[in-house]
Amino acid sequence: MWVITFPRTVVTGEDALEHLKEIDGARALIVTDKVIRKLNFVEKAANYLKANGLQVEVFDEVEPEPSMETIVKGAEFAKNYAPDWFIGLGGGSCMDAAKAIWVLYERPDMAVDAINPLEKLGLRKKARLICIPTTSGTGSDATWATVITDVKEKRKLELTCREMVADITILDPELPKSMPPSLVADTGIDALTHAIEGYVSQWRNDFSDALAIRAIQFVFKYLPRAYRDPEDKEAKEKMHNAATMAGMSFGNSQVGIAHAMGHSLGAIFHIPHGRSVGVFLPYSIEYSAREAMQRYADIAKEVGIQAETDEKTVEKLIEAVKGLCREVKEPASIKELGISREEFSRELDELVTRAANSSCTFMNPRVPDVEDVRKLFIYAYDGRKVDF
Ligand SMILES: [Zn+2]
Repeated sequence: MWVITFPRTVVTGEDALEHLKEIDGARALIVTDKVIRKLNFVEKAANYLKANGLQVEVFDEVEPEPSMETIVKGAEFAKNYAPDWFIGLGGGSCMDAAKAIWVLYERPDMAVDAINPLEKLGLRKKARLICIPTTSGTGSDATWATVITDVKEKRKLELTCREMVADITILDPELPKSMPPSLVADTGIDALTHAIEGYVSQWRNDFSDALAIRAIQFVFKYLPRAYRDPEDKEAKEKMHNAATMAGMSFGNSQVGIAHAMGHSLGAIFHIPHGRSVGVFLPYSIEYSAREAMQRYADIAKEVGIQAETDEKTVEKLIEAVKGLCREVKEPASIKELGISREEFSRELDELVTRAANSSCTFMNPRVPDVEDVRKLFIYAYDGRKVDF
């Protein structure tokens, strides 16, 4: 049996933000960060909400990789204001923060790290959630997960609960236009990693498969265009949709070792999520192919890659992924991320321990043991082949 969970409503295409004019309610709380606030999207969204008689307040203190302290602060703000709508407006951090603040607002008796998939939270007694992504990659607007950082313990909490999915997701292609090219690349490769890992995951299903394939096709076709030209409307819109479709896919299957290793690298060396995850994608395909050859070959065929055997087809897919990363100037190795061999060696044990214990590792089609994870990190350091 599969239980599939998606946002109830997805509004996409030109002027999608105007959908806010149709929201009924009393008070909306926009959860965002200071960078987004400067870009006028917040004002635009607030004006649409006000047009329908809502009061609007803004909590703009979300930092990249939001901390538990920020969530508690946001929940305190919400308690005094009593919103009936939360609006996560921004990148993954803003939407993740909105989800967690909403949970604490509804359930003041709970701690952030108590959110888990088995607990019935009983959300939506006080408020509902709208997600409006301004980047095209995280898929947080489509998933029922949130990533919060426990600064004291230096750990990332990957919290999930099916109730924590957006009621409404708004995909307005105007919003990601403000992204600098490096962010287009980081988030676009993150979306590709979500879709590929979702497609080969042990929890894959017919629904996640369909969405993953379309998202992969879109990233290959439109990411280079979106990277080169922020005015390319079609590419921006397709990448925005691809990110959410990839989110719907992996949100209902799982990601794998590229994410396990990326989370580990990102937390220790403070590298943005998409960049730290994307660097492992080609290595993870090469490692996992033994147990998922046909699945990767399917992906390759869907993007027009074919060779005499499945093995050769998958080799070509890995080359195509590397080629796409090069085209959008994403790093091809840990070394290219600017991490010295000394720093890398010093942290290697910690990197391996964290990645080997990540829940993402266990959903990978080929589950690596600790030694294999170590070999994969060493391989990904400079791309010098390691046998595994
Ligand atoms: Zn990701």
